[in-house]
Amino acid sequence: MRNWLVWYSEEDVNLTYTEVAGVEAKFCMVCGHALENRDVDGTLRRACTQCSFVHWGNYSIGVGALVVREGKVLLVRRAQEPGKGYWTNPGGYIEQLEPIQETVEREVMEEAGVEATVQSIIALRDLPRSIHNVYIAFAMDYVSGEPRPDGVEVDDAGFFSLQEMETMNVASFTRWLVDAGFQAQTAGLTMDREPAWEQLKGHGLFRM
Ligand SMILES: [Zn+2]
Repeated sequence: MRNWLVWYSEEDVNLTYTEVAGVEAKFCMVCGHALENRDVDGTLRRACTQCSFVHWGNYSIGVGALVVREGKVLLVRRAQEPGKGYWTNPGGYIEQLEPIQETVEREVMEEAGVEATVQSIIALRDLPRSIHNVYIAFAMDYVSGEPRPDGVEVDDAGFFSLQEMETMNVASFTRWLVDAGFQAQTAGLTMDREPAWEQLKGHGLFRM
């Protein structure tokens, strides 16, 4: 699925979707009446003229995967703009009701045909733009499958050594992520699948 948030850090592709599309919230998503600019606790917000709805902001959350097999990194080559032709780590955007570990596992399967399971969170990127994006990167355990591109969003996929990556057209964020993974001194935030507190079962929990 869409992984173009990788592109925010690439050259000057720093435009957010809102800036590209010129989108500003105009109507209340609860009652449909017009929104107005209003000072809410010292910050200018878009707020409904008829009900209590306040548009707090535009946020998006991306997830990305670092899958390593025998010292080689799983990369996909973007078939679509932005970033067409660049190699990146697999990833995408979270869905409303899908746990993020399932999202990133699904994206790795969809984009690269590889089964991998979440191990830990190894990196995070924050981009407070007109859509405030948080990108969470996971170290994942390779399980099975030979890389095969989906043919739509990515047109090539494979495991590559650091040496091979040096001469490839790899996105700078992906280079950063690979460096973070290979230089890591700790395991990062490891997924807690069996929390000691019954009330937390089913929560997505990652801890030191
Ligand atoms: Zn309203």
